[in-house]
Amino acid sequence: MPSVERFVYFFGQGRADGTAAMRDILGGKGAGLAEMANLGLPVPPGFTISAKLCLRYLADGHFPDELREEVGRHLKKLEQATEKKFGDPARPLLVSVRSGAAVSMPGMMETILNLGLNDETVQGLIAGSGNPRFAYDSYRRFVMMYGDVVFELGKEPFDEVLDEMKRRRKVTRDIDLPADDLAALVREYKAIVQSRRGVPFPEDPKTQLWGAIEAVFKSWRTRRAIDYRRVHGIPDELGTAVNIVAMVYGNMGEDCGTGVAFTRDCRTGEAVLNGDFLTNAQGEDVVSGARTPLPLEKLNRGKFAKVYKELEAVAAKLEDHFKDVQDIEFTFEHDHLYMLQTRRAQRTGLAAVRIAVELVREGKISKDEAVQRVPPQDLDQVFHPMVDPKAKETVIAKGLPASPGAAIGEAVFDADEAEALARKGHKVILIRPETSPEDFHGIVAAQAVLTARGGMTSHAAIVARGMGKTCVVGAKDIEVEPAAGRFRANGRVVKKGQLLTIDGTTGEVRLGAAKLVQPEAGEHYDTLMKWADERRRLRVRTNADTPQDAKRAREFGAEGIGLCRTEHMFFEGDRITAMREMIVAPDEAGRRRALAKLLPMQREDFEGIFEAMTGYPVTIRLLDPPLHEFLPHTKEELAGLAKAMKLPLPRLKALVDGLVEANPMLGHRGCRLGITYPEITEMQARAIFEAAARVVARGKKVVVEVMIPLVAIAEELRRQTAIVRRVAQEVFHDVGHAVPYLVGTMIELPRAALTADEIAKEAEFFSFGTNDLTQTTFGLSRDDAGRFLPFYVESGILKDDPFQVLDQDGVGRLIEVAVKLGRGTRPELKVGICGEHGGESSSVKFCHHAGLNYVSCSPFRVPIARLAAAQAALEEAGVINRTKATV
Ligand code: PEP
Ligand code: MG
Repeated sequence: MPSVERFVYFFGQGRADGTAAMRDILGGKGAGLAEMANLGLPVPPGFTISAKLCLRYLADGHFPDELREEVGRHLKKLEQATEKKFGDPARPLLVSVRSGAAVSMPGMMETILNLGLNDETVQGLIAGSGNPRFAYDSYRRFVMMYGDVVFELGKEPFDEVLDEMKRRRKVTRDIDLPADDLAALVREYKAIVQSRRGVPFPEDPKTQLWGAIEAVFKSWRTRRAIDYRRVHGIPDELGTAVNIVAMVYGNMGEDCGTGVAFTRDCRTGEAVLNGDFLTNAQGEDVVSGARTPLPLEKLNRGKFAKVYKELEAVAAKLEDHFKDVQDIEFTFEHDHLYMLQTRRAQRTGLAAVRIAVELVREGKISKDEAVQRVPPQDLDQVFHPMVDPKAKETVIAKGLPASPGAAIGEAVFDADEAEALARKGHKVILIRPETSPEDFHGIVAAQAVLTARGGMTSHAAIVARGMGKTCVVGAKDIEVEPAAGRFRANGRVVKKGQLLTIDGTTGEVRLGAAKLVQPEAGEHYDTLMKWADERRRLRVRTNADTPQDAKRAREFGAEGIGLCRTEHMFFEGDRITAMREMIVAPDEAGRRRALAKLLPMQREDFEGIFEAMTGYPVTIRLLDPPLHEFLPHTKEELAGLAKAMKLPLPRLKALVDGLVEANPMLGHRGCRLGITYPEITEMQARAIFEAAARVVARGKKVVVEVMIPLVAIAEELRRQTAIVRRVAQEVFHDVGHAVPYLVGTMIELPRAALTADEIAKEAEFFSFGTNDLTQTTFGLSRDDAGRFLPFYVESGILKDDPFQVLDQDGVGRLIEVAVKLGRGTRPELKVGICGEHGGESSSVKFCHHAGLNYVSCSPFRVPIARLAAAQAALEEAGVINRTKATV
């Protein structure tokens, strides 16, 4: 059957075959060029070869016959439009050949400029321009780019020759080389191709063109492009389009130039046209760093002012049209301005918020669109200092971005030392193979935490995130030697006291102190969040273990606490000793003695939390200490505990050894503890209800939810619930008034999800503990996953780390089953989520669609969840997200 598919789309002279909506075919760059042509903007004419052809070419290894004919026809059209001829020695048409996928892949762009030059046509260029320096400058650029992209030689061999030439001439800038030297470079470059590839450099422009088209298509499968797509979640099936555009020249003299402009400031969001430009330059010169570009406002002077005014008008028109900030590439040839690209500009979280709100105020978009415009995850940046995007400090390792923000400090390898140094006013980074509760005071004292092991739900990650402290975990490439006070990273050794910059937003570890920038939330943020809150159905609570965290979370807009991890209340000071006494107590009497010490501490914390959350629900989870996180390890800890318990050291050691578990995450934790030692549940219930009664007595409203963890069997819940209810009655009787409360459970084991109908007979609410549910569904230890899970993601076995992004196909299905079964038994069942996924935007959206009542996450992620919940509601209501339609 003959193909009716069209492969080539023309643009220029005020019209185009394509539009901005055709990104899938034209790629972002081609779609932008087509749309600009349709708008009557000054775009050099050209044509785009469909991205649909890319995968077909890669599979077949050759082009369909029709393509040669179509390209030939469009080349003719281009010749007519430019009144030049491809390969003509008198008036040669030169073109740029550039890649461009539907999704922008910055830094992945393949570019060849000035294609069509050879020893004959360069003479035409000289004659036409009267400028041999310009002609040979264009020629040497072409041969270099062709050698790099088509012959895959990289830039280095060419740069070496160029640098040598500049050294010989004692100049630092390319533009200071005279025409003869540039002509010599062309010859040397061609010789490099001949010697390295064993073929002569192609002189025939048509051969050059087809070689470039093939190379652009093949670039889709290069290692770096594949890696880039994996990291950014871009599908492999998109393919890239090829854009072939008539050349305009920014390198024709000092009154010509090229630049990049943004229609607003993409770091702050301020509505000012800004960017960089260079005179007598071409292509990548502005971004390559070879010469220092000038700020765009300098273009608004003297002979360039006309070009600037025109650029300003074009920028305004583009923003009006696309209704979003644009990132523009332009070239000016004498006083003619040409647009070479427009696309949606990348922006910081802070800028995204301001821009979205101001676009509403300017009448360009609706409030709902503004809410959709800001990627929820980017709100992370609004409250944390960030590493200046221009920072040059070397990245020496990379781990998982466990808790965002950036921090600088001296490397310290021990928690006590971290604390001692911090007391003296030092800023420190705590670096450990992994952390445990013993390191808690070190985490508190440190500016940031870095661990070699552990995943996104490891101890360090959860604790740091809860505190809003920068943290990078699972940095596989580092080898920490705490005793020696150093770590090794990719061949470097970093010693105690050396300055490091930790970027918890990207996971990068830099040597030295990088510049940090502090964003400010401000009025735009408040406005956007108000609009979001008006739309969302999901409630957003927080995971908080202390009154301070609870207060902070309220400021972020939390509507209650979805998880108070009571074991976290015992990390600090003497409390950990009392907790350990309770854990290692050899008998009930010993345990009760320890519990009696813990009771007032718990009661006091609960009072503070209830006060901070007056009027909002507070879910308190009964103890769930994975024992390995609490057992004493070091000699000093053992000695200290032996003293506190008045036990001989060997006896204590024997008790501790008896508690060591092979798989602590699957061991004696969660409700299993309360089942075997009911006195623990009794103490906690008493502390909760006594605290609640006191706060109520002060005239405050308290909404108590008691949550039983790690339930697998309905009978476990029945027994624990009975204890809680009995103690509640006792307390209410003693204080003379009752406090309303619910008793519910966490669903964090597959068996609980699959028997949720039975469990709901006892539970008044469910909260999905998706950290454990992920661990147990995958059979994957959350503490050890960091060792190999990144490889699973890098190699494409998993799209995301399931401890960060909810695995909707597996864990998500269990959630759906449990919601259905649970509500089948108890239609009014309140259902939430309190695993780390409760603050991750795609997981929050899933929770909305699964019919949950709320999500709960660490305080700093509350705004992310609020915005993601609003976006989910808008998606469900069918509000069209035009963000996706812009180029
Ligand atoms: C969970 O398992 O998802 C949870 C919230 O509990 P924890 O992380 O304390 O085990
Ligand atoms: Mg859990």
